[in-house]
Amino acid sequence: MKQGVAKGMAQAGRQSDQITSALQSFESIKRQLQGKRFAVFLDYDGTLTPIVPSPELAVLSESARETVRRLAGHCTVAVMSGRDLRDVQARVGIEEIAYGGSHGFEISGPSGMHVARQQGREFLPSLDAAEQLLRHQLGAIPGMLVERKKYSIAVHFRLVADDTLPLIQSTVENVLAAQPELRVTHGKKIYELQPDIEWDKGRAMRWLLETLGLSDEVFTVYLGDDITDEDAFRALNVRGHGIGILVRDEPRDTAAQYALEDTDEVLRFLEQLDVLAAEAGA
Ligand SMILES: [Mg+2]
Repeated sequence: MKQGVAKGMAQAGRQSDQITSALQSFESIKRQLQGKRFAVFLDYDGTLTPIVPSPELAVLSESARETVRRLAGHCTVAVMSGRDLRDVQARVGIEEIAYGGSHGFEISGPSGMHVARQQGREFLPSLDAAEQLLRHQLGAIPGMLVERKKYSIAVHFRLVADDTLPLIQSTVENVLAAQPELRVTHGKKIYELQPDIEWDKGRAMRWLLETLGLSDEVFTVYLGDDITDEDAFRALNVRGHGIGILVRDEPRDTAAQYALEDTDEVLRFLEQLDVLAAEAGA
């Protein structure tokens, strides 16, 4: 679902291979952040962990965990994932940070702060019905993975033979026709069915900032590689008080201002950010 058209040059989006490296542009980012408190939002898969053949293999390295934990000691940190809230919380394993699971449909604040939100509960029966249909019709395809999360269903076809792709596509279309209150997003070798409501990672980010009392004063840095992260990049462009950083994969239009190439670069960037956050005494 489309929403919130970004201001200025991000309106039409830019090609992801045309935007500059956040590491090479660190001095300029530093100038934007200097003396300000800031918050850092991070996607999980493909951002904090490298892309792997199946979702259960995406394990956070100890050094990445340490980097995120250290940063969280100096500023507000949130991990926003398409995974279930409990799954992403368990994988990251840091209590001091906030989490958005199911693309922000389930939100939990840092430990000790009783901040929580669930969005879309009334859609659970539609999701259940769609899950049943998808499993029934696609379950026998070798390499196919239908992953039910609380507020979404991910149809992973990374490991599936190319000649079955039309069948997968038409099955997803049929399921959507039967469950019109759901919508689909097309990510990396994945179809994701979700409640068709105006809620996404961008709105979840804004809700979390507001709820934590940070909306007006903090500068927000959001790092992600997903199509769903674009909602957050656009939200930051509209808000004008933050930057989106795309972790580059296949070329696409993006609303992000900067890019990083992979998880290693993300961690190097976060370490540099941590130095700034420590200096700001945030
Ligand atoms: Mg990702």
